[in-house]
Amino acid sequence: MAKKRVAIIGGGSSGLCSIKCCLDEGLDPTCFESSEDIGGLWRFKENPEEGRASIYRSVIINTSKEMMCFSDFPIPDDFPNYMHNSKIMDYFRMYAKHFDLLKYIRFRTKVCSVKRRPDFSSTGQWDVVTETGGKEESSVFDAILVCTGHHTNAHLPLNSFPGIEKFKGRYFHSRDYKSPAEFAGKRVIVIGIGNSGGDLAVEISRSAQQVFLSTRRGAWILNRVGEGGYPADVVLSTRFNMLRKKCATMSMLNHWLESRLNARFNHSHYGLKPKHRVFSQHPTVNDELPNCIISGKVLVKPNICEFTETAVVFEDGSKEDDIDFVVFATGYSFSFPFLGNSVRVIENQTALYKFVFPPHLEQPTLAIIGLVQPLGAIMPISELQARWAARVFKGLAKIPSISGMMSDITRTSAAMAKRYVKSQRHTIQVDYIEYMDELACLVGVKPSVWPLFLSDPKLAWELLFGPCTPYQYRLEGPGKWDGARKAILAQHNRILKPLRTRPVDNSSSNTFVPLWIKLVGLVALLAAIFAYF
Ligand code: NAP
Repeated sequence: MAKKRVAIIGGGSSGLCSIKCCLDEGLDPTCFESSEDIGGLWRFKENPEEGRASIYRSVIINTSKEMMCFSDFPIPDDFPNYMHNSKIMDYFRMYAKHFDLLKYIRFRTKVCSVKRRPDFSSTGQWDVVTETGGKEESSVFDAILVCTGHHTNAHLPLNSFPGIEKFKGRYFHSRDYKSPAEFAGKRVIVIGIGNSGGDLAVEISRSAQQVFLSTRRGAWILNRVGEGGYPADVVLSTRFNMLRKKCATMSMLNHWLESRLNARFNHSHYGLKPKHRVFSQHPTVNDELPNCIISGKVLVKPNICEFTETAVVFEDGSKEDDIDFVVFATGYSFSFPFLGNSVRVIENQTALYKFVFPPHLEQPTLAIIGLVQPLGAIMPISELQARWAARVFKGLAKIPSISGMMSDITRTSAAMAKRYVKSQRHTIQVDYIEYMDELACLVGVKPSVWPLFLSDPKLAWELLFGPCTPYQYRLEGPGKWDGARKAILAQHNRILKPLRTRPVDNSSSNTFVPLWIKLVGLVALLAAIFAYF
C-alpha cells in the first residue's frame, strides 16, 4: 500500500520534529517552509519580515537544554544550559542533519490554502495549494500537520491607549525590536511585563537614560538560575514535585512559591506585586530585572491612561514627559487563515482536542502542533503531539467521538479559566509534566516508574526525583529509543559540563536533589510500596 502523504506547514522546531515523527511511523512527509531556511522563530533576521515571527538579537531561551531537547537527540554536553538563539539554531541544524530531514522540506514555498476535498468524509484527504516563486501548485494530501507557531501576529492594542495618535515619539511592537543601539540616552516606556517586556526593559535600560516598565497588573518574577545554581526548570519539573503538588491545594502551592520569590526580593517593595497568585499567570522569567529596578535603571509604573504629544500619564496620576520611544510588548494573537473554516480562532480561543485535533472534522486528518504555551519547554511537547498525530493518521491510535472531545475541551477550558487571570495570553496554557503524561498515555509511552524501582532502581530514582526530561518518553512503547536510559543517567553531567570551565575542588555533593528531598522521597516511596502490596 502506498504511504500516506502528510503536508507539514512550517519548518520551525515543530515542523522539524513532525517530519521525523512521520518518517518514524512510515508516513510520507512534505514540509512547506515559506522562507529559505529552517528554525522558524529561532532564526534571527536583521529585519522583521511580514508573516514571520521575529526575535531580537540577544534573546536567550528561558527553558534549559535538558528540558527543551527532542526526546531522542540530547543537546551536546558542552552547550550552555540556557542557549542563545544562535546555539538553538546549531542544535536544530544538527537534528535535521542527523535524521536527514532537509530533503523533505520545500523551501520558499508558501501554503496558500488547505481545503477538504469533496470526498473528505470517506477519504480524509485535503487539497493543498502552495506558491513557489509566484507559481501556484495544487496537490492532494492524506493528512496535514500545521506547525506555524503562535508568535507571528503582533497584538498591538492601540485602542486601549487614548491619545496615542497624538504622540510624537516613536512607538512599535516588541516583534520589531532588534537591538538597543538607538535607545542610548533616550527615555523609553515598555508596556507589558511578559517575557518580552522584561527582557527588553533590561536590555534597553543598559544604555537608555531611563526605562519605565508599565504593567496593568504586575507580575511574579521567576529566575533562570534555580536552587544550587541548577536551571530552575530542572529543579522544579520533577515527578516528585508533581506528586507533592497533587497532595497540596492550589493556595498552598501559591503560598510556597510566592514566599520563595519574595525571599529573593519583596515584590511589593519593587512595585511588582500583582493581585493574582503566582500560578494564575504565565511566568515571567528574568534574573536581571530586580537588579535594574534596585539600581533605578527601570522604574515600574502602572497602566497608561493617556498619551500626549510628548508625555505619558499613568493610572496613578503620575506623568512622565519627554518620552522618546514606546515599546508595546503586548504579546501576540494567532490564526490559521489558510485553513478556512476548518479551524476558527476568536481572540486566541480555539476548540482543539488536547490542543491538537479540531473535534468537528469527519476524519482526524488535521492536527495543529505546538499550539500550547507550557509552563516548561515547548519543543518536546510539539514532538510528542506529532508522535501522537502520526499514529492517529496511521490508524494506530483513535480519538474519541465529537461529544467526547467537546466535553474534554470544555473541561480543559473551564480549568484554565478558573486558574488563570482573564487575558488573551492565557488561552493555551499547559503544565509540562501533566500534559506530557496525558499525551504519553495516548501514544502508549508513559514511563512505568514504580515497577522500575524493583527492576532498575537507579533509573527509577532519577525518573522520580530528577528532572522530567523528554527522554523519559522514549523508554518504552512505540518509538522506544535504546539511548534513553543512558541519556537520563547522564543528564546531570550534561548540565554541569558547560559550567565547569575552571578546575575546582569538587568535594561537595554533586547532586541537584537536596538530601531532605531524598529523605522525604524515601519515606513516600516506602509508604507507596507498602500501600501497593
Ligand atoms: P505575553 O506573554 O502575551 O505578554 C504580554 C504582556 O502585555 C502582558 O503583561 C499583558 O498583560 C500585556 N498586555 C497585553 N495587552 C495589554 C493592554 N491592552 N494593555 C496593557 N498591557 C497589555 O507576550 P510576550 O512577552 O511577547 O511573550 C510571548 C511568548 O514568548 C511567551 O510565551 C513568552 O514566554 C515567550 N518569550 C520568551 C522569551 C525567552 O525565552 N527569553 C522572551 C520573550 C518572550 P496581562 O497579563 O494583563 O494581559
